[in-house]
Amino acid sequence: MKDCSLVPVPQSWECREGSCLVLPSSPVIAPPEWQSEAGLLTGWIGAALGRGANPCGGPPEATGASASSGPSGCASVPAIKILRDDSIAPDEAYRLLIEPWGISLAARSGAGVLRGAASIRELLLSDGPRLQCSEIRDAPRFAWRGFMLDTARNFFSVGFIEKMIDAAAMHKLNVFHWHLTDDQAWRLALESAPEVAALGGRRRDRRYQWPVYAEGFYTHDDVARIVRFAADRHMTVVPEIESPGHATALLASHPEFSCRGGQDASLRFEPENRYGIFEDILCAGSDDVLAFMECLLDEVCSLFPGPVIHMGGDEAPKERWMACPRCTERMKSEKLLHADGKPALEQLQAWFMNRMAKALENRGRRMAGWDEVLEGNTVRSVLVMAWRGHAAGEMAARRGYDVVMCPQTKACYLDHKQRDIPEEPGQLGVCTLEDSYRFEPMPEGLSAEEASHILGGQGNLWTELVYFGRQAEYMLYPRLCALSEVFWSPRESRDYRDFLRRMAAHGPRLDALDLAWRRTMQE
Ligand SMILES: [Zn+2]
Repeated sequence: MKDCSLVPVPQSWECREGSCLVLPSSPVIAPPEWQSEAGLLTGWIGAALGRGANPCGGPPEATGASASSGPSGCASVPAIKILRDDSIAPDEAYRLLIEPWGISLAARSGAGVLRGAASIRELLLSDGPRLQCSEIRDAPRFAWRGFMLDTARNFFSVGFIEKMIDAAAMHKLNVFHWHLTDDQAWRLALESAPEVAALGGRRRDRRYQWPVYAEGFYTHDDVARIVRFAADRHMTVVPEIESPGHATALLASHPEFSCRGGQDASLRFEPENRYGIFEDILCAGSDDVLAFMECLLDEVCSLFPGPVIHMGGDEAPKERWMACPRCTERMKSEKLLHADGKPALEQLQAWFMNRMAKALENRGRRMAGWDEVLEGNTVRSVLVMAWRGHAAGEMAARRGYDVVMCPQTKACYLDHKQRDIPEEPGQLGVCTLEDSYRFEPMPEGLSAEEASHILGGQGNLWTELVYFGRQAEYMLYPRLCALSEVFWSPRESRDYRDFLRRMAAHGPRLDALDLAWRRTMQE
């Protein structure tokens, strides 16, 4: 009898006698509405087993062999049947039955089919064509299971992003948070304002004595391709447009959007070459900024069909607002004042973010923001991403806001080093595989109602020091394997030693996906 090797570990796994031989030609039979999921699974089977290889030892089979004919040397080809079962809940739940004569995968939705298909894919990648007979019943613990990639600090190709989405889908993650803009670059091409990406997507690399540029942005076609690729895997894309801070790359094409640029027409910016927090942010007193944001949201909403749009809201210093006549005027006209009548800068930030949140509500979406957005927020639909620590998320949930937990403190910040040694890449902290595995998104002591606001969590990869895709893979894996289990698997089944045992089977899966993962898991 074999132990379960899946990552994330399923809700239940029951081992049975015998095995099932899956062939590259094994047909995947599905109802018409799930042909897309069936097609993906067929592709995964072919990739896992190698098209043309014949595990029966005979000559390579012709493609398109059907269940009835079977390749020479094999008595029959076991089929994989996808069945609708409306009693299986929630949508992403599935039941997988592996029997000597075939596999049945039951779910009530395409998302459930895809999660079950991911389990089949994992088993084939580690075990080869002969699968242990078993019954798996599985369902997610949390509805939001995400990963974030910062494509602003460094640019990553569409093909690489697809590779990361595909690997995340194998781990049953279902949200890709796409950090598109920051001080260092603006990566989203805008048809309404092409100058923004043209100037904001190009940064002089000042480490070189001669002109070297780090550049790249995503066209509407690129975005459509990634959104479709993710949707095929039942993954939502959450784009992030940083505002009002982390906006230097936008100021490169529109210096007048800054407070100082509104007063001095000769002022110029270029995408930042340094990292940190910068004082020149969007001017909250500028009507041109508000008009631009409205236009931008129209375009962003047309590109991204998902329900959530992330508008940043973090790390916005107020020095410029304090000295800006337009911002001062705004605080007066909107009565954003302290009790003593002095302008209230924090209230101005809340006013700006509330305006973004309402603009998104008007477009049928909801705004996500970093946990700073909680201060002065009045829009109930706002989703809070708790990054400054567990307490921020707990407070948001107690106040009735939906929360995604991604604290930077030894858990979800995958730009941190995986071990505290000079040889290890990373920045600003240490987060070991075990730290990620032991992360618990649910704060203690919440009422059932408050707990229902903890939607889940995500792993965030900031890329100040991550220049290439291979490095990104190393930072993500295997910590994202651990987090996938935190977000998907039942809390009571979490066991770090058992996770490490399963990683022995899971490593070859990461290899098969051509991921450059950190192989030293126990120090
Ligand atoms: Zn201003």
